[in-house]
Amino acid sequence: MLTVNAYAATSPTAPLEPVTIERRDLGAHDVLIEIRYAGICHSDIHTARGDWGPASYPLVTGHEIAGVVTEVGPDVTKHAVGDRVGVGCMVDSCRECRYCEAGEEQFCVEGNIGTYGATGKDGVMTQGGYSTHVVVTEDFVVRIPDALELDVAAPLLCAGITTFSPLHHWNAGPGRTVAVVGLGGLGHMAVRIAHAMGAEVTVLSQSLKKQEDGLRLGADHYFATSDPATFEQLAGTFDLVLNTVSAPVDVDAYLGLLAVDGALVNVGAPPEALSLNVFSLIMSRRSYAGSLIGGIRETQQMLDFCAEHGIGAEVEVIAADRINEAWERVLASDVRYRFVIDAATLA
Ligand code: NAP
Ligand code: ZN
Ligand code: ZN
Repeated sequence: MLTVNAYAATSPTAPLEPVTIERRDLGAHDVLIEIRYAGICHSDIHTARGDWGPASYPLVTGHEIAGVVTEVGPDVTKHAVGDRVGVGCMVDSCRECRYCEAGEEQFCVEGNIGTYGATGKDGVMTQGGYSTHVVVTEDFVVRIPDALELDVAAPLLCAGITTFSPLHHWNAGPGRTVAVVGLGGLGHMAVRIAHAMGAEVTVLSQSLKKQEDGLRLGADHYFATSDPATFEQLAGTFDLVLNTVSAPVDVDAYLGLLAVDGALVNVGAPPEALSLNVFSLIMSRRSYAGSLIGGIRETQQMLDFCAEHGIGAEVEVIAADRINEAWERVLASDVRYRFVIDAATLA
C-alpha cells in the first residue's frame, strides 16, 4: 500500500481538508500514476455535498486526472513508465456486458466503477484525483498526446469527453447549428469542440459578461438568456442544443429553439426533476435526450481530436489550499473556464 496526500470532503457542508489515503498495491494489470494536474468539475461539488444522494466520507473527488506513469504491474502492455496519461470518470466496469463490449463502459449494466465514491473490484471505496498518486487498471487509462500540455489536458478527461460524445453522436459538423447553454467548464469545451467539428456555434449564457471570451473560444454568436427577446429571435433555429447548466432550466423554452427534428441534450445534471409540455416535442418532431461522459475508446478519440486541432481547456491553475475558494467560485458561475489543481502543491 502507498500512503499519499489528498484533499477530502469530510461532510456535505465542511470545507475540504488535507488528508492521507491509501492506494492499493499494483496488481498485474495496474498502473501507478503520479498525478500532475486534476481538474475541478461541478460534479465533484454535487457529489461531495450530497446533491445526488448521500456520499461516504472522507471523500476525495476529482475525475479529470493528468499525470505520468511511474510504475506498472507485470502484465501491463498498454502503458510504460514515463508515459503521459489520463484518467476520467471511470476506473473499471464489468467488461462483459453488451455496452462494455461496444466500448460504452459508461453504460455498463453492472454500473461503471466511478473514479471516486464507488466500490472498487477490491471492495474498497474509490478515491479520486485531488491527490498525488492513483492506481488504475491499464484499460481505463488513456494516452495524452504530446501536443497537449498536461494542465490543459486534464479537464478533457471529463468536460472534454462529456461534450465531445453528444456533439459527435448528434452529428455536429459543417452545415449544422449548435447552441451551447452555459459557458462554464463543460460549456467552454463544447464551444471549442463544436467549432473544431465545423458546426455553427451559438452560446446561450445568463448574461453577456463573457461574450468576448465566447467568441474567442470559437462561437459565431452569443446571446443572453436573461433577455426574453433571445428566445423569440432564435425560435426554431438549432439542430442541437447542448445544455450544460448545473441548475434546472425552463425545458420548454430551450425546446422552442430547436428546428424540426432538432434535439435538446442535457449533460448538465441538476438534482431537481425537470418538466416539459409534450407539445414542445410533438409540434416539430423534436427530441429531448441526455448523455453521460463517453467510453474509453471515444475518450482516446477525443484526446487525439483535441491534439490535432490544438484544443485544450482554458484553465486557472491553483494550489490545493485554494480548492475551497475555487468551489465557491464554480457555484457562483465565476469560473474561467476550469480550475485545475497543481498536484505538486499536495506533496
Ligand atoms: P460549471 O463550470 O459550473 O458550468 C455550469 C454553467 O452553467 C455556469 O458557468 C453558468 O454558465 C451556467 N449556470 C450555472 N447556474 C445557472 C443557473 N442557475 N441558471 C442558468 N445557468 C446557470 O459546471 P460544469 O463542471 O461545466 O458542469 C455542468 C453540469 O454538468 C453539472 O451539473 C455537472 O454535474 C454536469 N456534468 C455532467 C456530466 C455528464 O456526463 N452528463 C459530466 C460532467 C458534468 P453562464 O454563466 O454562462 O450562464
Ligand atoms: Zn466531471
Ligand atoms: Zn459492463
